Amino acid sequence: MDEKVRELLEKAKLTAGLAADGAVKAAGAVSQKGTQLVEKTKRSFQVFDLNNEVELLMREIGRMIYLTHTGAETDEAALEEKLAQIDEKYAQIAELKAAQEAEKTTTVCPVCGKACDKNDLYCRICGEKLQ
Ligand SMILES: [Zn+2]
Repeated sequence: MDEKVRELLEKAKLTAGLAADGAVKAAGAVSQKGTQLVEKTKRSFQVFDLNNEVELLMREIGRMIYLTHTGAETDEAALEEKLAQIDEKYAQIAELKAAQEAEKTTTVCPVCGKACDKNDLYCRICGEKLQ
């Protein structure tokens, strides 16, 4: 692997911890708030769109890294910006998913697959402990 590409990958690794922090904070913020009730369908579309945007950014980053490998000058600021955008979008996705999870009233038994009430302590079919 070239030195340039290796450097870029090292930089990307340095921000890894920040990304994880962001997602956890976003998830916590929503479960605490829980007041803003956005329609479930709307949220699913938002997650879908965000995932597409992340895919596009991933592709652009891949292209930048490949160009670096071919010897082209790398716009590191642009690369870091794209990485930050992905972090942000993943945090938004985590937030949306946490909100969806919080609204669920059913849970699935890990043993028999039966849909049980979220408040059930044990599965009504097989008796597996649910919580
Ligand atoms: Zn069960």
